[in-house]
Amino acid sequence: MRFDVITLFPELFEPFLASGVTRRAFQSKQVDVHLWNPRDFAEGNYHRVDDRPFGGGPGMVMMAEPLAQCLAAIRGERGDGAPVLLFSPVGARLDHAGVEQWAAGSGAILVCGRYEGVDQRFIDRHVQVQVSLGDFVLSGGEIAAMALLDAVARLQPGVLGDEDSHQFDSFNPALDGLLDCPHYTRPEEWEGRKAPPELLSGHHAQIERWRRDRRLEATARLRPDLVAAARAAGRLSAADEAVLAKLAPGSS
Ligand code: SAH
Repeated sequence: MRFDVITLFPELFEPFLASGVTRRAFQSKQVDVHLWNPRDFAEGNYHRVDDRPFGGGPGMVMMAEPLAQCLAAIRGERGDGAPVLLFSPVGARLDHAGVEQWAAGSGAILVCGRYEGVDQRFIDRHVQVQVSLGDFVLSGGEIAAMALLDAVARLQPGVLGDEDSHQFDSFNPALDGLLDCPHYTRPEEWEGRKAPPELLSGHHAQIERWRRDRRLEATARLRPDLVAAARAAGRLSAADEAVLAKLAPGSS
């Protein structure tokens, strides 16, 4: 899959693309990321990409034309009808289902806003979908783009060190859609706190049951909406329901 990223700060992506478990996905072009700077498509000696907002007020607005020229160059190279996604606080909040959709597709063109945002006429003309990271305001769309690329890359087959270890992560509907269980590693005792004996037992079925119970417990306490969704989707067994029934009333 191919993602083209339109950003005034392509250098922000360099350490991201070269680090961590997702690096192989990017370097092998399993997730092929191309960076584009609208400044390279701006007119004049100053390669101006922003201007003052009509109607006054603080800040600057990204001009439509350099973005449109940049997009045209990307379209020329890609030769497909890839969707244009703009990161914006007005967009739909990114979640696991959204990430899975992007991870299963053939890519997209990601537009990172800066300043007060992007001239609305560019959005109306060229943007198909707007995506938000949450109800807060970033200085630019780059961190949101990296969040999406990272989440998409780790879902690609073989990217995580342990084959498909992402299937046990939080929110995976193919498993149960619940939150993950707590994790422990050496030493067995740290600052007087012991790791759960079940995990040290070497007894596979016991370990699996312990993990399952902790997933249910944590999700019932922190995200009862996810328990309800798992139940509605038929992802809870009789044993799961028995565990939930024993928890404090009202917690599931
Ligand atoms: N004036 C805008 C904020 C602009 S912030 C408003 O109040 O809604 C500059 C850019 O950062 C935006 O164009 C967008 O690309 C990015 N951005 C800011 N907050 C974001 C969020 N929560 N999710 C995704 N992108 C965001």
